[in-house]
Amino acid sequence: MSRFVDRVAIHVAAGNGGNGCASVHREKFKPLGGPDGGNGGRGGDVVLVVDSGVHTLLDFHYRPHARATNGRQGQGGHREGATGQDLELRVPEGTVVLGPDGEVLADLVGEGTRLVAARGGRGGLGNAALASRARKAPGFALLGEPGEERDFVLELKSVADVGLIGFPSAGKSSLIAVLSAARPKIADYPFTTLVPNLGVVTAGDKVFTVADVPGLIPGASSGRGLGLDFLRHIERCSVLVHVVDCASEEIDRDPVADIEAIERELAEYTPSLDADLSSRPRVVVLNKIDIPDGRALAEMVEEELRAKGHQVFAVSTASREGLRELTFALAAIVERDRAGREAPEPTRLVLHPTAVDDSGFEVVRDPHDQDGFLVRGERPERWVRQTDFNNGEAVGYLADRLARLGVEDELAKKGARPGSAVTIGGVTFDWEPSTPAGVAVTMMSRGEDPRLDRTDRPTAAERKSAKRVRRGIEEPPPAGATEDGGDAGEARR
Ligand code: GDP
Ligand code: MG
Repeated sequence: MSRFVDRVAIHVAAGNGGNGCASVHREKFKPLGGPDGGNGGRGGDVVLVVDSGVHTLLDFHYRPHARATNGRQGQGGHREGATGQDLELRVPEGTVVLGPDGEVLADLVGEGTRLVAARGGRGGLGNAALASRARKAPGFALLGEPGEERDFVLELKSVADVGLIGFPSAGKSSLIAVLSAARPKIADYPFTTLVPNLGVVTAGDKVFTVADVPGLIPGASSGRGLGLDFLRHIERCSVLVHVVDCASEEIDRDPVADIEAIERELAEYTPSLDADLSSRPRVVVLNKIDIPDGRALAEMVEEELRAKGHQVFAVSTASREGLRELTFALAAIVERDRAGREAPEPTRLVLHPTAVDDSGFEVVRDPHDQDGFLVRGERPERWVRQTDFNNGEAVGYLADRLARLGVEDELAKKGARPGSAVTIGGVTFDWEPSTPAGVAVTMMSRGEDPRLDRTDRPTAAERKSAKRVRRGIEEPPPAGATEDGGDAGEARR
């Protein structure tokens, strides 16, 4: 039943990882100390957490954008950059998380259930962590990775806390409108305008939802009116409110008889429900007491209804008389019901929105360039993001990593020739295989990575010096030894 669904599109951004630091230890009389640049801190995650104290998606309508904090840059003296703080977004029980195309990613059930909606970027390694036997004093550090940014739709199949029942024109819609408008801030909450049959009511620090059940007319239990589907929604309401028109023009109408007619309908309906509606608390709202006849009738029947065990409130949605008492009474009943309800089974269906396959890579022909190749894989793409292309040594390090992973061999196998355009993670390189370990990588001004715009290409001199470093100073790593084999040198998360 679409009108009972609260939906909000949100955009979440995790924190960026801090850059690693390239620094050399300085001491009096010891001008060439070792590298001591610390690692950058990890960026904070954005996490959705189920909280039984939250009952609506209201806050997300007000603040649809959420961002966790960035990790800080590493510092000299082996100081790690501070980790970014995770941002926890509290969502109600039963929140469904959908991707931008409407695919269901997770159904958040059970107090405390967590879903990492966007992962913080890893911090870049500092030059201390990058040092090895072969590379004693790296003159570069790795960049922090950007945090993930994602769009989601949150949906709450909202089962209202309070169900309003009563004959047409009793004033149910009016009551929802005035109760939810009682809090001025709520006036432009899209929920109340888009979905006139459902309102969010605030009473002190309590928030609850009120829904109109317009299908409940005599005959509804046998499918008349809006039928059984609609009635099903009241089955989980904490309280049912009879709204009665005390100023009806129709002479043969009598509040007590109206309520009994509706009650008969509920009783008819009960067998098709799991829950027994007869035990659900009832409140009677005698409406339209701003009209003198209405007030007179309300006063006449009040006692009789109380005697039947109902809580009774005489109100006017027009003059607002009696609404405050009604609001707080409803809040109290809802609160009691919530407290008494068993905690839902923590059965969870949680799909992680990110693929975590970190292992391999593949080389394919570039569909947009017949001489070009694409390298796809979590690690090679990450390594490119971590590379400071202004620093020739950093670029050389990238080349070494790619070669060690086998990217170079695979490119050769797939038919790449010197000069072929190779694209990894949106950055395109000229492929220049060289021995023993690595390709000399030169950037081409191609591709759409925004970094290409703000990154000067390494100058010829820089590239040359990087090569000299690798050829002259570095020895090829001894067989079997891994100086940072695979991901051993990755910043821990
Ligand atoms: P619903 O069919 O139960 O949703 O009833 P509505 O909220 O649409 O109200 C039906 C009619 O009653 C509308 O014309 C309202 O303006 C009117 N109405 C509702 N509440 C009051 C009230 O407290 N006093 C008066 N005088 N009219 C009311
Ligand atoms: Mg209505």
